[in-house]
Amino acid sequence: MFNFNNIIRSNIKNLTPYSSARTEYTGKNAIFLDANENPFNTGYNRYPDPLQTELKKKISEIKEIPADHIFLGNGSDEAIDLITRAFCEPQQDNIMVLPPTYGMYKVSADIQNIETIEVNLTGDFQLDTDSILNAVTSQTKMIFVCSPNNPTGNTINSNDIRTLLDRFAGFVIVDEAYGDFAAVPSITKTLSDYLNRNMIVMQTFSKAWGLAGIRLGMLFASTDVVNTLNKIKLPYNLNKLTQEFAIKALQKNIAKKNTWISELVQQREILRYSLAKFGFIEKVFPSEANFFLIKVKNPLDVYTYLVNKKIIVRDRSKVALCKGCLRITVGTKQENERLIDELKNM
Ligand SMILES: *Cc1c(COP(=O)(O)O)cnc(C)c1O
Repeated sequence: MFNFNNIIRSNIKNLTPYSSARTEYTGKNAIFLDANENPFNTGYNRYPDPLQTELKKKISEIKEIPADHIFLGNGSDEAIDLITRAFCEPQQDNIMVLPPTYGMYKVSADIQNIETIEVNLTGDFQLDTDSILNAVTSQTKMIFVCSPNNPTGNTINSNDIRTLLDRFAGFVIVDEAYGDFAAVPSITKTLSDYLNRNMIVMQTFSKAWGLAGIRLGMLFASTDVVNTLNKIKLPYNLNKLTQEFAIKALQKNIAKKNTWISELVQQREILRYSLAKFGFIEKVFPSEANFFLIKVKNPLDVYTYLVNKKIIVRDRSKVALCKGCLRITVGTKQENERLIDELKNM
C-alpha cells in the first residue's frame, strides 16, 4: 500500500530547510532591512515571493485545484528533478519509464545515480500494465507516464493509469505537457481523488500557453508532496519577471490561448491529411498533441533534405519502437504549407 512516510528519503524528511528573509516576514508595508537588498527602486530590487502566492491563486482558480496542492517550478523539468531527489535514494532506489517517451525522466535519474527501469509501451503505444507491475521492485519509487505521450502523440488510456495507481505502492507521475491539445479532459478532473494519494500530475506553460521562454511548470499533488518540494527547492526558484508575466497572461491571454489551441488542432489535422498522401510516408501516427510522428524508409535522408531547406524536424528513428520515425511539430499555416511544398519537391 502507498504510504508517504515510507517513500520520502529520511534525510529529506528530517531536513531543516533554508529559511529566507521573505519566508520569515511576509508583510508588505515595512522598512525592509532584512535581506541585504538595494533599497533603490528598480522594480526588481526586492527578492520575489518564494512561494508565488498570487500566481498560485490564479492558477488555482483556473485549474480548480486548491493552491496548497500546487507546486510551481522553473519549467516542469525542475519538478521532475525535485521529485526524483525527494523520493529516490541514490544508488539504491529506481524509477520506471515507459519508452518511447520524454528523455528528461531518465536524465534526472542518471544525474542522481538512480537506476531507471524501462518497460516499453505496447505496439499501439499504450501501457503494458502486467509487464509494468511485474517489473516493479521493492526499490521502485515512481513510474512516469506521459499523456499525450512525447514523441508518439497519443493519450494513454486512463483506466490503465488507474490500474497503476491502485496496484503500485509508489507515485504515478502523469506528465500532461500536451494535455491542452487533447480531446480528453485532464486526469486531475477524471481521477481527482488520487491527487490526495499517489498521483502527481505535471503541466506546463511551455506549449499551449506559448511561454516556453519564461520557464514555468506546474505540478499538482498531495499537500505532503507539495510541502516536501517546497522544502528542497531553491529558495527563489521562480524569478519575479516570470511570476508577473504569468499572472498577466492568466488575466489576459486565456481567450488567445484557446484560439491558438483550436487553430493548431485544425492545422494538425490538415497536415496529417496532406502527409498521408505521400507515397514515401509509410505511416502518420494519430496525435492528440501539437506534433506527430511519421514513419518513413529513410528518415535520415528526409531529415537532411529538410534541414537543407531550413526546415528542422526531430529525428526519433533511434528511439525504442520508433524505427524510421521523425517527429514534426505543427507550425503556422504558412510554415506547414512550406513543409508540404518542400516534401513535394523532394
Ligand atoms: C515540453 C515538455 C515538457 C515541458 O517542460 P518545461 O520544462 O515545462 O518546458 C514536459 N514534459 C514533456 C513530455 C514535454 O515534451
